[in-house]
Amino acid sequence: MGLSAKIEKLLRTLPSVSAVLECEDVQHWLAELPRASVVASVQEAIAQCREQMVCGNVTEAVDLHQVLALAEADLVRRSIPSLRRVINATGIALHTGLGRAPLCEAAIDALVDGAHGYCSLEFDLTTGLRGTRNAHLSDLLAMLTGAEAGTVVNNNAAATLMILNTFAADREVVVSRGELVEIGGSFRIPDILRASHATLREVGTTNRTRLSDYESAICDETAVLLRVHPSNYRVVGFTESTPVSELSALAHRFGLLAVDDLGSGALLDMKAHGLPDEPCVRDSIDAGADLVCFSGDKLVGGPQAGIIVGKREFIDRIESSQLMRTYRVGKLTLLALDATLRQYLDPEMAIEEVPALFMLQVPTEVLVERARDLTSMLKAAMPGANVYEASDVAYAGGGAMPGKELETIVVQWHPEHAGVNDVVSALRAAETPVVARVRDGAICFDMRTIPESDFDTLVDSIATAAAETESGDPGSIRLPVL
Ligand SMILES: *Cc1c(COP(=O)(O)O)cnc(C)c1O
Repeated sequence: MGLSAKIEKLLRTLPSVSAVLECEDVQHWLAELPRASVVASVQEAIAQCREQMVCGNVTEAVDLHQVLALAEADLVRRSIPSLRRVINATGIALHTGLGRAPLCEAAIDALVDGAHGYCSLEFDLTTGLRGTRNAHLSDLLAMLTGAEAGTVVNNNAAATLMILNTFAADREVVVSRGELVEIGGSFRIPDILRASHATLREVGTTNRTRLSDYESAICDETAVLLRVHPSNYRVVGFTESTPVSELSALAHRFGLLAVDDLGSGALLDMKAHGLPDEPCVRDSIDAGADLVCFSGDKLVGGPQAGIIVGKREFIDRIESSQLMRTYRVGKLTLLALDATLRQYLDPEMAIEEVPALFMLQVPTEVLVERARDLTSMLKAAMPGANVYEASDVAYAGGGAMPGKELETIVVQWHPEHAGVNDVVSALRAAETPVVARVRDGAICFDMRTIPESDFDTLVDSIATAAAETESGDPGSIRLPVL
């Protein structure tokens, strides 16, 4: 189908890429920005005009200014990485969508130091010979959990898969029907089992699984009794599950492995430190589990990683598996994880230093004070704005403490000049984006997940969002200065 003569004529009015590149504004951009980006944006702008003409939305010749405005918008979009720092105002401390745990200062220092130069990743500084990257954390993990040894892989999904692949490929793994969980869509226990070439043997019912259910499922093909922490939900009411100690004793009686996928996994006694209760890795080891795995970036509060601890012979077998090469972590992860784990040598220090833990136990009175400070900063920046403090509930997130509500304090902003959804979008479009939730037409900034050190930036983002929605200018386009 040919285009109508009228559209053909209109298309001929479009400037060429080289003509646009010649104009003065674009020359200024070229002086500051990579040529490839500028050219791509000019091409994109012309292509957009062409498309609008072809589909009949634009019926007049466009002038150069319109092309430049489109090119500038595209250039701004290209110049800002889509993966960048945001302020988490949601109150969910371990928000998977927002990158889970923020790192402690020691981990950040270790990352910066390690990133600047070389490190002894696979080099033994004592002997001067080749070392192994997995050796660095083994002793520390052993000390913190009571296990004989430990190792680290890319994430806990990989940890689970590696354990099952190493010990149960072409054999059976017995799991309670109450624990066939899905965690965040891409991790489902039955799928992980399939991927590891193990066969799932479901036992018990959704709400009750007894030791005898496990025992009657054991056959010649059985390799592992697996327990999975049902991280993001709870079965309440008439329930029964088998303790790890009994499961381990049963496994050992039949020469099988007892494996505990703890999900979040706490490295200290949470309750004793005013934190909401969550299973402790050491308890599983003490209860006789052969291997325990958990995430590095949930309650541990470190970088994304999957941590496996347990009997040395089993850890050694996992480390010599073919899959290790595909799931191993890089030096930056090891540096950050090592620094995070060291905080736990003194539990009091861990709670002070590891942000994920600190946030979860910070007393409400402290949050009240923080909220008061933020409210007055916002009132100063936006005179007349409807801003006030309120109490609310927050959640740990990251599959830790499912359903457990944490008392929290929020600063609420009821924007009266524009629709609340427009303001929420403007907050996401700010130079430092803010992710917040809405309650009763007000935007909530949860004090549990926003440290005071972020207040200046937060107030900037909020005031900019207010000004932009006020003027009806959705994210005024400015070229970033590179
Ligand atoms: C979160 C979780 C996983 C997956 O951990 P990632 O580190 O996100 O890969 C596996 N098992 C359980 C029980 C979990 O809670």
